[in-house]
Amino acid sequence: MAFDSKALNQKNIQMEKGHISVQAENIFPIIKKFLYSDHEIFLRELVSNAVDATTKIKTLASKGVAKGELGDLKIEIKTDPEKKTLHIIDRGIGMTEEEVNKYLNQVAFSSAEDFLEKYKDDASIIGHFGLGFYSAFMVADKVEVITKSWQEDAPAVIWSCEGNPEYSIAPHDKTDRGTEVILYINEENKEFLEKWRITELLNKYCKFLPVEIKFGTRTETSYEGEGDEKKELKKEVDNIVNNPHPIWRMKPSDLTDEDYQNFYNELYPFSPAPLFWIHLNIDYPFNLTGILYFPKINNSIEVQKNKIHLYSNQVFVTDDVKEIVPEFLMLLHGVIDSPDIPLNVSRSYLQSDANVKKINSYITKKVAEKLQSLFSADRKAFEDKWKEISTFVKYGMISEEKFNEKATAFALLKNIDGQYFTLEEYKEKIKDNQTDKYNKIVHIYSNDPKAQHAYIESAKAYGYDVLEMDNIIDNHFIQHLEYKGNDITFVRVDSDTTDNLVQKE
Ligand code: ADP
Repeated sequence: MAFDSKALNQKNIQMEKGHISVQAENIFPIIKKFLYSDHEIFLRELVSNAVDATTKIKTLASKGVAKGELGDLKIEIKTDPEKKTLHIIDRGIGMTEEEVNKYLNQVAFSSAEDFLEKYKDDASIIGHFGLGFYSAFMVADKVEVITKSWQEDAPAVIWSCEGNPEYSIAPHDKTDRGTEVILYINEENKEFLEKWRITELLNKYCKFLPVEIKFGTRTETSYEGEGDEKKELKKEVDNIVNNPHPIWRMKPSDLTDEDYQNFYNELYPFSPAPLFWIHLNIDYPFNLTGILYFPKINNSIEVQKNKIHLYSNQVFVTDDVKEIVPEFLMLLHGVIDSPDIPLNVSRSYLQSDANVKKINSYITKKVAEKLQSLFSADRKAFEDKWKEISTFVKYGMISEEKFNEKATAFALLKNIDGQYFTLEEYKEKIKDNQTDKYNKIVHIYSNDPKAQHAYIESAKAYGYDVLEMDNIIDNHFIQHLEYKGNDITFVRVDSDTTDNLVQKE
């Protein structure tokens, strides 16, 4: 980071031409062709750079290094359909000529080159990690950067490059601090000049970036006066596309239930209200914030997946979090934000990464604790929600040993009469009448109470209790419980004559 405030004495710079890097003649064609499906990430990369530059100027100002008013720090995105250009404009630290040379011609370029070299065979990670500045060349034939550093007396410059290793730098008359990146969008990518397309991308990648982002204007209507005198006032205001202060970065104690519910609606418009949520917040041994919501799950697992969004410092990374959260937690919805998840490595490597493992067990533990606290605080309310969370809990118990250990205390069994028991309570209840000659406590269940009605009645006549196990996951759950508990066994109510269900002597 170039925070050294040496005022650069470059007032009389002339137009210069340069060559980006000798061994990289073929990099531009690669950048353009190879990331076909992920072209769109260029916008995330450029807006993230603008955010970084803005955050840096704020930091410098707060340390008293940068003096004077910072002014309006909004980032602006705009298009010029006639010139076929897309502009990303920030009021961040800007760059001196020397910095342009260093960061755009050398550093950025060599990192783009390294990146492509390393990952050309692993397209799956590309969407997770951008090429930085050079990804602009995936969609543009020519890129200009007009920039003026925050450092006093540093003259503005314009850097220009047409997607080949030659570039030029010349003086520019820009007077205000910051950087404007101009992309001359090429014919194949002209969608990126369309308002709807840019809006879509800003929504996907930039929705929670920490600096306000303006894209066009919108009309705000307000009213003045009363009755017949009432006047409608229309005003053009900046159209801010993001929410720079998402609630997952705030303190739970400053938030109400309504805040959490509204945020859920913001993430998943038109979804039924969540059952409850967990606010994650940890900064040691890794940094992670987020909110996980328990959606209503009714007896079906598949439809719910891929709802957790992964962010890194408020920049959207992916909604495919398979390697990062345990499989069963993928049923949850919400946001995880962690700069400590390594995104520039291949997916298989992620699973063995130590931070990812810790994150996994941290989230698992938090989820188990939340369920335990709901159970302890209000058992009746917990029972009422059981239908909607049981799939999740059972799935978790089967697939994660750590979760299983904790969940044994609050997992519930429900009998035909609608009563709920913990695993231990249930054993206590039936052991006198339902222990067989092998000393196993026999759990009798029905997976279809209507069809098995007659069998159930008959079992009841024997004084037996019958469980309702008709969830799609119950087959596996029964096997799991039998495997874990040496002293119990399950029989289906219609699997034998009633007098044979519990084989006594
Ligand atoms: P990265 O952001 O990962 O460092 P990039 O290729 O995106 O890599 O950018 C290279 C460097 O160029 C940045 O680290 C930064 O120093 C500089 N840079 C890029 N965009 C801007 C900008 N809008 N304002 C100031 N500096 C910028």
